[in-house]
Amino acid sequence: MRGPAVSVVGLGYVGLSTAVCFAHRGLTVYGVEVDPNKLSAISRGEVPFKEEGMDRMLRSVLKAGRLRVSGGYDDAVAKSAITYITVGTPSRPDGSIDLAYVRACAETLGRHLAGKAGYHTVVVKSTAVPGTTEGPVREALERGSGKKVGQGFGLSANPEFLREGSAVKDTFHPDAVVIGSLDGKSRSALLSLYKRFYGRLPPVVLTTPSNAELIKYSVNTFRATQLSFLNTLANLCQSVPGMDVEEVARGFAMIAKPDPRYLKAGIGYGGSCLPKDLRALIAESRRLGVDPQLLESSLRVNEAQPERAIDLAVKATGPLRGRRVAVLGLAFKANTDDIRESSAITLVKKLVAEGADVTAYDPAAMPNSRAVLEGAVRFAKGAKECLKGAEVCILATGWPEFAKLRAADFLAMARPFVVDGRGALDAEKLGRGGVEVLRVGVGKA
Ligand code: NAD
Repeated sequence: MRGPAVSVVGLGYVGLSTAVCFAHRGLTVYGVEVDPNKLSAISRGEVPFKEEGMDRMLRSVLKAGRLRVSGGYDDAVAKSAITYITVGTPSRPDGSIDLAYVRACAETLGRHLAGKAGYHTVVVKSTAVPGTTEGPVREALERGSGKKVGQGFGLSANPEFLREGSAVKDTFHPDAVVIGSLDGKSRSALLSLYKRFYGRLPPVVLTTPSNAELIKYSVNTFRATQLSFLNTLANLCQSVPGMDVEEVARGFAMIAKPDPRYLKAGIGYGGSCLPKDLRALIAESRRLGVDPQLLESSLRVNEAQPERAIDLAVKATGPLRGRRVAVLGLAFKANTDDIRESSAITLVKKLVAEGADVTAYDPAAMPNSRAVLEGAVRFAKGAKECLKGAEVCILATGWPEFAKLRAADFLAMARPFVVDGRGALDAEKLGRGGVEVLRVGVGKA
C-alpha cells in the first residue's frame, strides 16, 4: 500500500499496535518513544508487552525498514505528513485525567512544526476529556509552531477503541472510525489514509474533536455501567435458588440490543413500564439484601431530567414566575394518550410549582391530563393556540405534528424561545426564521 508516511508518538499498547499495523500494510512509519528501555527493546524487535502476533509483525516491519523508531521527533515531523499522539493519559489521585504527557508531546510537536514547510496533520489518539484537542493541544501546537490550525497544520481527534489481547485484530477491523476535526484538510488526510489502510472503510463518524472525545468515554463508561448492571443482576440471581445470571444475560442480550428508540436523550423516560419495573427490581433487590444502587441511580437521573429543560429556559430568559409558558406534549411519548409517569407531566408540575403560568396542549393526552392538572394549567385546543402570547415554549413530547410547526407559528409567541426537550425540532431551520431553539443535550455554541 502506498500512502503518506505517518508518525506515532508514544509506543505503548496503542502507539506500537498502530505503528506496527500501519507498517504491516506497507506504510512508512516513524515511531517516537521517550522511555529508553522501551525504545531499545522495540528496536531489537521485542514487544514490551504481551500481544498475540505482534512480535512477529514488529520484527518483520523493522527488517523491511518500514518502521523506524527513535527517541527524538526530528524525522517524525520532517518525514511524515501525519503524526499520531498516543501517549498515556493516566489518572491523578483524585481520578481526574493527567494530560501532562499529552501537553508535553504537543509542545514538542509544535516546536518541530515551526520549521516545517508543508501541511502537517496532528491526530490525538490518546483518550482525553472533551475539550483537550480544541483546548490545550491546539494551544500548545499553535504556540510552539507560531502557526494556526487550518494554516500550516491540521488537528483532529481520532480516539482508539482497540482492546489489549486483540489489539492487532481490533486495529485491522474496528467497529467504526471516529474522526473529530478542527479543519477540513486533516479530515480529508485521515479519510484518505484510512481508505488505503482498510481497503473498504469501516463505518465512519465525522464530528467535532470534543464530540469524538466524548464518544470514546461514552463507549467505555457505558460498557463499565453495563458490566456493573450485569453484576447487579448476578447478585440478585445468586440470592435466589435456581437462578443463573448467564441465562438471564443471554435473554437480555437478545432483546436489549442497542436500539435507536432508546438512544434519544431529553427530559427523561416514563410510561407504564420503565419506571415501575425499575422500582420493582429495586424493592426486590432490597428485600433480598442486594445493593440496587445502580438501578436507583437510573431512577434519580430520570427524575431530575425534566429540570434540565427548565434550567435551559431560566438561564436564557430569567425566572419563570408569573410568565406564560407553553408546554407542547403531555403524553409520556408520541402516538399514545398514556400519561402514566410522563416526564412531560412532571415538567408541568415543576413549572407550576415555580409559579409559571402554564398553557399545555397534547394531540391525544388532554383528557387524561385534565384529571391530574385541572385547575393548575390552561389547556389549549391546538399547538398554535398554545404558543400564542407565550414567552417560553417547552416541547415535552415528540409528536410528529410538533415537528411540522413552522417559524411563523412560533413567532406568534411574545418571545419566540423554545426548549426542545425531545430533539424533535429542526433548530437550524427555525433559527433562520427568527426562532431561538435550545435543545436538551446540546451545548450552546
Ligand atoms: P502506555 O502507557 O502503554 O504508552 C504510552 C507511551 O507513551 C509510553 O511508552 C510512554 O513512555 C510514551 N510517552 C510518554 N510521553 C511521551 C512523549 N512526550 N513523547 C514520546 N513518548 C511518550 O499507554 P497506552 O495503553 O498505549 O495508552 C495510550 C492512550 O490510549 C491512553 O490515553 C489510553 O487511555 C488510550 N487507550 C488505551 C487502550 C489500551 O487498551 N491500552 C485502548 C484504547 C485507548
